[in-house]
Amino acid sequence: MIETIHTLVIGAGQAGVATSAHLAKRGVPHLVLERARIAERWRSERWDSLVANGPAWHDRFPEAEFSDIDPEAFAPKEAVAGYFETFAKARDLPIRTGVAVTRLERHGEGFRATTAQGVIEARHVVVATGPFQKPVIPTVVTDPGITQLHSNAYKNPAALPPGAVLVVGAGSSGAQIAEELARAGRRVFLSVGPHDRPPRRYRGQDFVWWLGKLGKWDLKAPTPGTEHVTIAVSGAYGGHTMDFRRLAALGVTLLGRSGEYREGTLHIANDLATNIENGDRNYLSVLDEADAYAEAQGLTLPEEPEARQFLPLPPAVTNPIRTLDLKAEGITSILWATGFELDFSWIAIDAFRPDGLPRHSEGVSDIPGLYFVGLPWLSCRGSAFIWGAWRDAEWLAERIAKPQAVT
Ligand SMILES: Cc1cc2nc3c(=O)[nH]c(=O)nc-3n(C[C@H](O)[C@H](O)[C@H](O)COP(=O)(O)OP(=O)(O)OC[C@H]3O[C@@H](n4cnc5c(N)ncnc54)[C@H](O)[C@@H]3O)c2cc1C
Repeated sequence: MIETIHTLVIGAGQAGVATSAHLAKRGVPHLVLERARIAERWRSERWDSLVANGPAWHDRFPEAEFSDIDPEAFAPKEAVAGYFETFAKARDLPIRTGVAVTRLERHGEGFRATTAQGVIEARHVVVATGPFQKPVIPTVVTDPGITQLHSNAYKNPAALPPGAVLVVGAGSSGAQIAEELARAGRRVFLSVGPHDRPPRRYRGQDFVWWLGKLGKWDLKAPTPGTEHVTIAVSGAYGGHTMDFRRLAALGVTLLGRSGEYREGTLHIANDLATNIENGDRNYLSVLDEADAYAEAQGLTLPEEPEARQFLPLPPAVTNPIRTLDLKAEGITSILWATGFELDFSWIAIDAFRPDGLPRHSEGVSDIPGLYFVGLPWLSCRGSAFIWGAWRDAEWLAERIAKPQAVT
């Protein structure tokens, strides 16, 4: 069976739902195909206790607030998934769930999408399959006695076998999971690479508010050389600054970046002190910029000098561990919080750069009629976030609705 539609959207996470909403507003006939359920990744590819990293007033679409969640609170992941589902249902968006697109190819002036349920042809296709598609595990650890899983498969401390846990990666996922495991009484080792760690709140305002005021969300590209710096923030336990000294005080043993694994031993880079120092520098730079902004604008916000006081550096920083004998330390699990990569292997179109990223300008591919939304830095720093995907989707929908009107 061949079905024809003007615009096909692939994926119904926040980016796909936003695109559908904007297309519907413009009367563009379209269909969204979602391989599982609306916002599936928030449901099954995140851990049980995850809450949004930003407060509910911020991490949402501009035209709909969360019901039943205090705007200053951090929405639990099920509430985030429910929010997108409710949003889509309230607008009767044409989303067909349980249909995976297994191949996308060019067909005449448009495209042909293959699914197990049939073929769909469309003049325009918007790929909204997510910024975090394929888990990355950088090191090969061959030890059948050790349970290994990526952060997208972690659920809760009780689901890991008894014993110590090595968490590799200290972005938001790794830092939050390490904290949860330590609070559950687990012995935890945390491998910390380069990171930014903005203050959760400063002078009475959340850091997402400060980033908005300081124009950081609208940055067009990462600062050169900082592309791989992850950001460690948390909305857990009411929201607090990710401070690795505090994690160490909680019992977490900090390590530098994990390197090679040989005969039961993981080799650790001698970079922990540098990574902590650079993270502190990033933290302090946000305070400095916030103070400068407050002064320049004449804002009367409460002073917060205590935000500049740090706990002492833990021994693991001053006397770093360089090798870790997993068995001797009782480590029974490794949790890889080492990020994701894109996987567009199902798109049989020459639309990609050698590094796998689509060739595009603000989501508009150089293949006419093909678009991408929801990717990090698609148009700006905010692009992979809920409200950023909304904004990018609006611009793409406008382009699809009136191709000649947009330059
Ligand atoms: C741990 C974690 C926490 C995060 N917390 C926040 C936060 O608090 N606030 C925030 O703004 N952002 C957060 N993000 C970033 C981002 O908002 C989410 O990753 C979000 O899920 C991205 O939405 P998306 O719609 O672009 O992609 P996804 O949510 O990944 O949606 C893509 C959809 O496409 C479907 N799909 C994939 N391939 C196909 C196919 N071939 N055919 C049909 N369907 C397909 C998937 O099933 C999925 O439902 C977080 C990310 C992570 C990893």
